[in-house]
Amino acid sequence: MKQFRADLHCHSTCSDGTLTPFEILDLAKEIGLSGLSITDHDTTSAYTQPFLSKAAELGLQMIPGVEISSIHRNTSVHILAYNYDLQDEAFKNFISEAQGKRNDRNHKILEKLKELGMPIEYEELVAFASNDDTFNHKSLGRPHIALLMIKKGYVPHFQQAFDVYLKDGGKAFAPTLSRTAPEVIKEIHRAKGKAIIAHPGIYKNRHVVQDLLSMEFDGLEGYYSRVAPEQEKRWIDIAYNKGWLVTGGSDFHGSVKAHIPLGCSWVNEETFKKILER
Ligand code: AMP
Ligand code: FE
Ligand code: FE
Ligand code: ZN
Repeated sequence: MKQFRADLHCHSTCSDGTLTPFEILDLAKEIGLSGLSITDHDTTSAYTQPFLSKAAELGLQMIPGVEISSIHRNTSVHILAYNYDLQDEAFKNFISEAQGKRNDRNHKILEKLKELGMPIEYEELVAFASNDDTFNHKSLGRPHIALLMIKKGYVPHFQQAFDVYLKDGGKAFAPTLSRTAPEVIKEIHRAKGKAIIAHPGIYKNRHVVQDLLSMEFDGLEGYYSRVAPEQEKRWIDIAYNKGWLVTGGSDFHGSVKAHIPLGCSWVNEETFKKILER
């Protein structure tokens, strides 16, 4: 019997990935995954009825997911929400308010780029990112700006756009006025979902990590992209001691991050089922 593997962290064209949700389903099937969660940044728009029907046809089990931006100690913290109620309108509204904050922030980044002699009109960014008309609720952010900077000849490659201009603290960086982490956790729980600390290993400020570990999360993402096994063990031990779930996923984005393949991190059937428990 084939091993059950479910990648619970990936991005589609609804946010900053390069494959449509349908293409991700095909790829997941091709590489032999049994389950999947698409976790676009601040949008649940992948989860249309045709998408859910196609997943069912392919025999892929789905957990509704979304990666929500929050802020803690002036640091951008990503929170994964799983198995929330897809019909919950208040949750969708909460997420779409985050879209508004994202757009304000995108405007600020573009203003800074203009001051740096690299003008991009907001409309230009929207048009550039809307090359796919199946999913028009695109969650725009820094990766789209980076790609347009390359197209306009401002930077030679994606990583330079981030390293010099867009990374936290970069020359054109602007923070998102996101909700606080506890506010996001509370809303996820209200919508019957599980709140998980995404990629806890990326935070350089240890106070941020300590604080997050004392919040009312249900788990942390212990298996992530190409993290070294000893690092994984550290997070798994922490989660185990707290009685938390350990989730996992690749953070696949398609060709913009070609070094991260779909399915390179995953969870087994036991964990998958625990996330689906209410
Ligand atoms: P945003 O949601 O607009 O803040 O953009 C966050 C996304 O930008 C992340 O999910 C990554 O895809 C990408 N990103 C953030 N920081 C970096 C970085 N230093 N290098 C490359 N990509 C990054
Ligand atoms: Fe991303
Ligand atoms: Fe993230
Ligand atoms: Zn992600």
